[in-house]
Amino acid sequence: MGRELEYNKYYYDYLTNLPNRYFLYEYYNHDNNKFIFVLFYFDNLTYINDSYGHLFGDKVSVEISKALIEIVKDNGKIFRFGGDEFIVIFHRNLDEAISIVEDVTKKFNYFFKVEGKDILTTVSAGIYAPKIGEHMDDIIRKANTAMLKAKKLGKSKYVIFDKTMEDDIVKKTGMIVDIKKAILNNEFYLLFQPIYNLRENRIKEVEALARWRNNKYGGIPPSRFIPVIEETGLIKEFGVLIIEDVFKQINDWRNKGIVLKVNINVSPLQLRDDDFLFEFDQLISKYKIPLNLVEIEFTETQILDINQQEIKKINELLRRGIRISLDDFGVGYSSLINMIEFPISTIKMDKSLIDRIDEKKVRTLIKGILHISKEMNYEVVAEGVETKEQLSMLKEWGCDKIQGYYISKPKAPREIELMFKNMYDKYNVILGSTLENYVENR
Ligand code: C2E
Ligand code: MG
Ligand code: MG
Repeated sequence: MGRELEYNKYYYDYLTNLPNRYFLYEYYNHDNNKFIFVLFYFDNLTYINDSYGHLFGDKVSVEISKALIEIVKDNGKIFRFGGDEFIVIFHRNLDEAISIVEDVTKKFNYFFKVEGKDILTTVSAGIYAPKIGEHMDDIIRKANTAMLKAKKLGKSKYVIFDKTMEDDIVKKTGMIVDIKKAILNNEFYLLFQPIYNLRENRIKEVEALARWRNNKYGGIPPSRFIPVIEETGLIKEFGVLIIEDVFKQINDWRNKGIVLKVNINVSPLQLRDDDFLFEFDQLISKYKIPLNLVEIEFTETQILDINQQEIKKINELLRRGIRISLDDFGVGYSSLINMIEFPISTIKMDKSLIDRIDEKKVRTLIKGILHISKEMNYEVVAEGVETKEQLSMLKEWGCDKIQGYYISKPKAPREIELMFKNMYDKYNVILGSTLENYVENR
C-alpha cells in the first residue's frame, strides 16, 4: 500500500461514504503491489429504484455497502463504482479473494429487510488478477467482461477473467463494423424453406431465412449474427431490408404463376420502433402485396419483455389479416401463458420437442399442445421434422403443418421454383394431390 492519500471530499461517495471511482484511480497510482480486482454488480437495483423510488433505492445501496464492509473486513478496499457496482481490491491471493467473493454471493442470495420491505438483490462478480503496472481502464474492462459473463450464467455467480473472453468481444466488435457495411452492400440474402400443409397435402407457404454472403462470415448462421444486429441497434434497417426482399420475391413468384405465402421472422425490437407499422404499410402498398400472403413470426424466448404498446401493434397487424406465429414454442420460460397473452394465429412447435418425439412424456406433451391449440383455434406447425416417422405421428395427431429437412432444406428462390415445377410435372402436387410420392421418389 502506498502512502495514505489526503482527504478530499470528491473522492467519496456522498451516499455510502465509500471511496468512489475517482479515488480508485488515485489509489491505484499509489499502489505498486499485486492484488486481485473484483467488480460486483447488484442485479436488481435498477428495478428496485423503478418500483420503489430512488430514495428507497439509495437506502438499499447503503445497506449493501454496509453488508459488503462487514464481509470484506480488512481483506480489501471497497469502492462504490457506479449506482449498482462496487469494486473491491483484495491484497490477498486468488484463493483467499475467491472465498470472500463466495461469501458475498451467498449472503446476497437471501432476502433482507429495508424499511420493512423484503429486498432481494443477487450479485454477479467478475474477478481479475492484473499484471503489475497494467492500466486501470484495462483492469476495469477485463473485470467487467468477466462480470457480464457471470451475469449471463444466471444470478449469484462469479467468473474469473481469461484471455479468450476478450477475443470473443474483439471478434464481435469487428463484426459490428462488417454488419454495417453488409447492410450498405446488400450482403444479406434470403433462403426459403417450404412448409407442408398436412391437411391439404401441399405446400402453400415458405419461411424466409436470412443468410450472409461474405467471405469472412459466409459460414456464420443467423442465430449468431442476428443477436449482434439486435444488440447494435441495426435491426431496424436490417428488418426493413428483409421485409422488402420478401415482398419483391412474392411478386417475382406471382409473376411466374407461383402463389406462395411467405413467413417473415421479425425481432420484437423492431416493434419498439414507432415507425414500424407505418413502414410496413408503406411497403405493402408499394409492392401491392395481398395481406394473406404474409405471416410474421415472433420467437417465444424474445417476447418475454414485450410491452402493451408492442402487443397493440401486433393486434393491429392481426386486424389487417396478417397471420402471426409464435416461433420456437416450447423452449421458452412462459410457454403456456403466452398462448393466452400473446396475440397469435399459429404456434410453431420447436424442433427440440420434435427431436424427442419417441419419448412417451414428450409425445403426451405434443398431443396436449395440439389439443389445446385446436380448442383455441390456433394452427400448429411442427418445426425440424427430419423423418417419415415424425411426419406420420404428427399427421395422425392432427398437426396442421410441418417444416423440416424431411420435406426440404431452406432453398434459393430458383430452387423453390424448380421444386414446384418438378412436383407439378410429376405428381400434380401443387393442385393438391399427394406430396408423399414426391418426398419418397425425389
Ligand atoms: P427459426 O425461425 O425457428 O427458423 C428455423 C430454423 O431451423 C432455421 O435455421 C432452419 O434452417 C432450421 N431447420 C429447419 N428444419 C430443420 C431440420 O429439419 N433440421 C435442422 N437441424 N434444422 C432445421 P436458420 O436458418 O439457421 O435460422 C435460425 C434462426 O435465426 C431462425 O429460427 C430465426 O429465429 C432467426 N432468423 C433467421 N432469419 C431471420 C431474419 O430474417 N430475421 C430475424 N429477426 N431472425 C431470423
Ligand atoms: Mg421462424
Ligand atoms: Mg423456430
